[in-house]
This record gives sequence, C-alpha cells and structure tokens, in this order.
Amino acid sequence: MASQEQNYWLTTAEFPKAEARPLPDRVDVAIIGAGFTGLSAARTLARRGAKVAVLEAETIGWGASSRNGGMVLTGMKLGVNQLISRYGRDLTRRMYAASLQSIDCVEQIILEEGIACDFVRCGHLEVAFKQKHFDDYARQAEVIAREFNHQIRVVRKIDLGAEIGSEIYYGGMVDEVSAGLNPARYVAGLACACIKGGAEIYERTRAETLQRESHQGDAGWKILTSRGPMWARDVFIGTSGYTSRTTPALQRKLIPIGSFIITTEVLPEALAHELSPRNRMIYDSKNYLYYYRLTPDRRMLFGGRAAFFPETDQTIRRSAEILRRGMIDVYPQLRHAKVDYVWGGTLDFAFDIMPHAGQIDGMYFAVGYAGHGVAMATYQGQRIAELIAGDRPENPFVGIPFPGAPLEMYSGKPWFLPFAGAWYKFLDWVS
Ligand SMILES: Cc1cc2nc3c(=O)[nH]c(=O)nc-3n(C[C@H](O)[C@H](O)[C@H](O)COP(=O)(O)OP(=O)(O)OC[C@H]3O[C@@H](n4cnc5c(N)ncnc54)[C@H](O)[C@@H]3O)c2cc1C
Repeated sequence: MASQEQNYWLTTAEFPKAEARPLPDRVDVAIIGAGFTGLSAARTLARRGAKVAVLEAETIGWGASSRNGGMVLTGMKLGVNQLISRYGRDLTRRMYAASLQSIDCVEQIILEEGIACDFVRCGHLEVAFKQKHFDDYARQAEVIAREFNHQIRVVRKIDLGAEIGSEIYYGGMVDEVSAGLNPARYVAGLACACIKGGAEIYERTRAETLQRESHQGDAGWKILTSRGPMWARDVFIGTSGYTSRTTPALQRKLIPIGSFIITTEVLPEALAHELSPRNRMIYDSKNYLYYYRLTPDRRMLFGGRAAFFPETDQTIRRSAEILRRGMIDVYPQLRHAKVDYVWGGTLDFAFDIMPHAGQIDGMYFAVGYAGHGVAMATYQGQRIAELIAGDRPENPFVGIPFPGAPLEMYSGKPWFLPFAGAWYKFLDWVS
C-alpha cells in the first residue's frame, strides 16, 4: 500500500514551540502529560493564578490527543442500561449530564480562546450492525429521554439513506448534540491558551519518579525528570494510554489498547456527500467497532481496533490493509480510493470501562476515557484543576469504585490482549 505511515491531522496543524529552558525549582502544580487532560487542567489553573509546569515526555499533543478521530461525543462507552444497573439512577443521571456538559466545555474553550479547529455540532450517528442491535435502540432512546431528558432519534433502515451511503446496516440512532473537530488543531490551540495564560510547558521532559517530600515546610512532591529534579505542591497525572511505571498504582488499573486510522485522498464533493450526507461522526454497534467521518477537506477518515496492541510500525502497517478492507465493506464506493495516511494511537481502558478521576496515592489523576476522551478529557482536566484550586466542583466520576484486574493478575503489561481481542470478536459474532 502506498499510504504514508503518518498522522494526517498533523499535516494540518501548527504547534507552539515550547522553549527548551531549565525546569523551575518549585511550582504549585506539576502536570504530567500535555494532552487534552493536562492542557485543559493547566489552562484552568494558570487562569486561577497558580504556577503550573506541564511535563511532557515527547512533544505537545504527542499522545492520543492529536491522533484521534476528532469525535466529540455524548454519553459513555457503556450503554445506559448497564450504567443504571451498576450505579443506580441518580449517579447515572449525573454522569450523563456531565457527558453533555463536557461538549459545552469543549465548545466554550474553543470560543473563548479562538481556536480554529473546525469545531461543528454535526451530531453523531450510531449504526446497527445486527437487527438485534437495532431492536435495542428504541429502548435506549426511551430510557435516555425519560431518565436524562435528552433526545436521541432512531432511524429505521428504510430512512437510513438520508444519513449514510451504506447498505450494510439495520438502522441507526442520531444524537444532534455531538460535534466534530480537528484534534491536532484543538490540542495545539489548548497549548497556546496555556502558554498565553502563564502555564509553562516542558517538552521532552519525562517524569521518572515521584516521591513525597517537604520543601520549606510545605508538603509536596519531588519529581525526578529526564531533565533534572523539580518540586511541586500538587501533582496531576494526565497520561492516559501512555501511563507507565512512573505511576505504578495507576498503571495497574489501566489497559492500553491500540486504535488505528486511515484517511483516503480528498474525495469528489458528490461522492463525499453520498457517503455521509449530513457529515455526521459515525460509529457502529460492534464491540470491535469501526468509527468514521469526513475530514473538513473531504477525506474519509476510517478507524478501528484493527490490532489490539498499541501502535508499532508493524501494527500500523497491518492495520492499514485491515481497515481498508473494512472501509470497502462499509462503502464499496471507495474501492478505488487511494489511502493517503495511516497511523495509530493508544487508548486507556479501565477494567470497568469507565472514566475515573480523583486522587491515588496522594496524586490527582483523570484517566480511563475508553475512546470517549476528546470531550471527557477536556472536562476532567478542568474539573480536577478546580478541585486542586480548592473548589468543590460537581464530578460524578470522582470516588466511584476503581477496580483493578481480577485476582490482581496484572502489573501493567497487558499479556491478555490477544485473548481480549479474540473474546471481543467472539462477542460480535454471537451477540
Ligand atoms: C486512534 C484513536 C482514536 C480516537 N478517537 C476518539 C474520538 O474520535 N473521540 C473521542 O472522544 N476519543 C477518541 N480517542 C480517545 C482520545 O483521543 C483520548 O481519550 C484523549 O486524547 C486522552 O487525552 P489525554 O490528555 O488524557 O492523554 P494523551 O493525549 O494520550 O496524552 C498523554 C501524554 O502523556 C505523556 N506522558 C506519559 N507518561 C509521561 C511521563 N512519565 N512524563 C511526561 N509525560 C508523559 C505522553 O507522552 C502523552 O503525550 C481516540 C484515541 C485514539 C488513540
């Protein structure tokens, strides 16, 4: 395949250059990771007058935040019935409300900071891969309307042509509140907003160890980094799928899972319109799902968990062909379309497939977005920053049980991923 192993979004964005200056001796808050979580937190804290240093092992937005599909989605990875049976009505209501607010939060930051990232409230479309998946849509829409006062529109197969130029699905569900954006431009814009607000970002600065240590009578943390030591009163971890042994307690609770994306060449206007007449953010109802959308310059961006392992040259190359075949199954019209770009990134799944935030071992954290992180990571960054600043913000994800692996059979190295991959494929076959 002639596609470049490169992230298409990065060809469209300009990142601020964070100067390579020495680390400060002491800050109020050290934030680990310069993605949506860390930068959203840094922006909030800097605006509150805190001295903030964002430590990023690679470069600004290097992680999932520049590599994703740019789908700004309502809801959570788990279905509403599962959420209600696990957490009860009240807590689930608060979680769902937070998922809606997270989209407003992204929109408000973009407006306030004037970030040109093609944000548009285009809505999302979930398509049913099987008849029984579609049969459940009406029930879900009814629960969402009744419990959360939020409207989802169910689309029957005969009406689906107005939403998608594919024949393979049994119907769909539309949520008009979801949005789309260019994630690389968004994360670059967030970084500019942080710098403008007075936060400092240190690229190529890996936090290696974190230990409790007092400084001039203040309790806090000594952080050893690849570029020397630093002291911080508070530490906030926003490392998501790239969480490492630097924070072993968190690493043991997260499974890093690879997700991969291809984008085609720019498509003729009529073809692009035929494929996605309403320009929705689209994903299917499988466990091993495909997600896809048009880019603002009319390429088809098509993603999925083609390999479960995180991105390497090998998994990216293999995924390119698997995804191209998947894309042609959905859209035979694209069989001659050239694939221009392919790349991968790493998602973080908690064992209960829920977002989690709060404190662990005395450090603040927000993780576990499970592929729903564009809006939720922005929201959690802001909410946890408010908590650090001394507020008591509403955050239904703080304090919910955060399970580790069953029987503690996991040290952060996901040996079971091939089995998990096979299991999800099996579930898609039988359910
Ligand atoms: C291919 C793909 C497609 C996706 N599509 C969507 C989508 O369409 N919609 C959606 O809502 N979500 C999607 N997601 C998920 C979403 O991108 C993530 O949930 C979100 O970007 C997480 O942001 P973050 O800031 O928490 O983490 P990241 O953006 O992953 O940033 C973590 C950063 O931490 C740094 N880091 C790690 N350890 C250290 C250390 N010790 N010291 C210093 N720095 C460190 C890493 O270098 C990295 O830059 C997708 C993810 C992937 C991979």
